[in-house]
Amino acid sequence: MASQAKTTKTHGKKRTCLMCRKTFLSEWPGERICPQCKRKHSWREGDSWLPGGRSA
Ligand SMILES: [Zn+2]
Repeated sequence: MASQAKTTKTHGKKRTCLMCRKTFLSEWPGERICPQCKRKHSWREGDSWLPGGRSA
């Protein structure tokens, strides 16, 4: 076997989530929050900041 294909399929880097401090695989540079936290947060119940939505 000659050509030893170096399949470096490193599509991502191991990073530490800023939210849960867990190690996750970020797909792109800049991603610092694991997908799980992203989902969890979902941009913080985008209902509280709604303008004119003060119906208590
Ligand atoms: Zn996280």
